[in-house]
Amino acid sequence: MEKSIIVLGSSGSVGTQALDVARAHNIKVDAITGGKNVELVEKQIREFKPRFCAMADENAARDLATRVADTSTKVLCGTDGIIETINLTDAKTAVNSVLGLAGLAPTLAAAKRGMRIAIANKESLVAAGDIVKAEVKKGGAELIPVDSEHSAIFQCLHVGKRNEVKKLWLTASGGPFFGYTSEQLRAVTRADALKHPTWSMGAKITIDSATLMNKGLEVIEAVRLFDVAPSQIQVVVHRESIIHSAVEYIDNAVIAQLSCPDMRECVQFALTYPDRTAAVIEPLDIFKVGTLTFKEADRKTFRLLDLAFYSIEQGGLLPSVLSSANEAAVALFLDDKIRFYEIAEVVEDAINAFQNKLDFTVEDVFAADKEVRDRINFERN
Ligand code: MG
Repeated sequence: MEKSIIVLGSSGSVGTQALDVARAHNIKVDAITGGKNVELVEKQIREFKPRFCAMADENAARDLATRVADTSTKVLCGTDGIIETINLTDAKTAVNSVLGLAGLAPTLAAAKRGMRIAIANKESLVAAGDIVKAEVKKGGAELIPVDSEHSAIFQCLHVGKRNEVKKLWLTASGGPFFGYTSEQLRAVTRADALKHPTWSMGAKITIDSATLMNKGLEVIEAVRLFDVAPSQIQVVVHRESIIHSAVEYIDNAVIAQLSCPDMRECVQFALTYPDRTAAVIEPLDIFKVGTLTFKEADRKTFRLLDLAFYSIEQGGLLPSVLSSANEAAVALFLDDKIRFYEIAEVVEDAINAFQNKLDFTVEDVFAADKEVRDRINFERN
């Protein structure tokens, strides 16, 4: 395969899986970027021999530069270094698996360069979806979803025309606390929340899938990516995580995408689209799966899902506030500063306290992010 990629956030869960796909298909990795994980990034540099590597953390960049001094990889540093790496690479495809709002600037930089952006960074779309889409259009870039649900919807959308779409069925595993009452949620600990039934993921997204915030962010992501109204999205709890989402058409035909739950399928499709290539994932043994089940999501108990619908219906900066507040709240929870059920309270308070703005710039997003985090850390830390 004659392709060259840049992997943004290469030491994260999706980043390492993107490198698995690159390894399996002999895709050249021209550049990688990371945060702090020097050991893993050094290993990746030795294996993939990228021309450039940027580390968000300054000390990590310095340490890494010393460690890989014997290689030909140029090490850059900080947010500027990450943007410079995107500008220097000759890769036509960027896998953006950066965590959080830090992924927005790289998305915009890749859009300006007209790259195919295999997007796993939800916040780019949640916080500034319209701005990102405008830059993508202007730069002649392309957004291909990597999130498993959105990849599935993207695949199912090829069966009909956009004006024939009635609903998107967004499937959800339901998380480890599916079926819990509000009372039971109050007793949940950090250890309980870090267990996920079917997907292996990073800590932040594991908590987000336990609170259903992950599904909420995905609702917003779907609205942005596929230009549908929030009311056209139906969340379906599907514990087996075999159907990764579906599209219901106006003739009531429902087209679904099924496979083993393995993100590498989604990354691979984003890299090879419109073609399909030999699998890196296991084939689906449907007889072993046996039964597929479907339940409604409990938006009352898992309040964050409801707040996500509310924020996207309101629009403006509210989805961004939702996401920033959630990031701050999850960090507090992982730090044992708040209880699990308080995550939703923190986010709801942040939404209520915020003066929304319908027309906004990227600077407004960062300002809102800072305002929300400062308030939460002041009140709760
Ligand atoms: Mg997902």
